[in-house]
Amino acid sequence: MTETLFDMFLPTDRITLHQNMLLLENGRETVMIDAGAGQTPDFGGKIFGPTTGWIADNLGRVGLDPAQIDVILLTHLHPDHVWGLTGSDGAPVYENARIIVNEVDYGFWTDARRAEDPKFSKDALTFQGAIANLRPYRDRISFVADGEEALPGVVARAAAGHSPGQTMYDITSRGQRLLHWADVAHHPLLLARPELGIVFDFDARMAVETRRRVLDWVARERIEVFACHFGFPGRGHVRPLGQGFDWVGKPIEL
Ligand SMILES: [Zn+2]
Repeated sequence: MTETLFDMFLPTDRITLHQNMLLLENGRETVMIDAGAGQTPDFGGKIFGPTTGWIADNLGRVGLDPAQIDVILLTHLHPDHVWGLTGSDGAPVYENARIIVNEVDYGFWTDARRAEDPKFSKDALTFQGAIANLRPYRDRISFVADGEEALPGVVARAAAGHSPGQTMYDITSRGQRLLHWADVAHHPLLLARPELGIVFDFDARMAVETRRRVLDWVARERIEVFACHFGFPGRGHVRPLGQGFDWVGKPIEL
């Protein structure tokens, strides 16, 4: 692993994960994919520290108020994707937003009995955070499954492994296509070495299978990818390289 990082001109003593967010405007609705880690003292603030949890503020920088978000598509219910849904007072940050999520992922992470199960003690905070952050939205949640249209031009694609119902969003607009691949790969290292995993993978073997399948597919079809944990802006392409793949990042478009 050290050698691969060295070959990629990256530090070999640490791995930095970034956090990019995708905002879509389809002319009728303003759509956000995931809601980040948030800064609540019990959850995001406690685990991720002060360098994350800035989505609501950053929306202001593009002239948007959280109340203007109409839809939030969730890729999966892990901390860095849903803990930003509520504020310190437990109230929804996105007061007008409805949520679209895969039913398997939602059912798994919001199951209060499972949250208490010693078998899942390692993930106790993930369960608690998912329950606390989704509860205020419970009357405006709808489900989407593999191959279904979540919104016009946005098709859900299954990518289970990292999380039981992890879902990618395949977006097409005016002849262009962008795949938000959720956490199929957290870092370019996992393209060079797809057989590696991350401690947060729920099912490590399935996560590797999914990663290989998605990497093969996007490389073969030359599909542009949005990789939320890659360096800003997280958009780019994947091409085969040796036994694995290589990331070809796209520059920022201003
Ligand atoms: Zn993540």
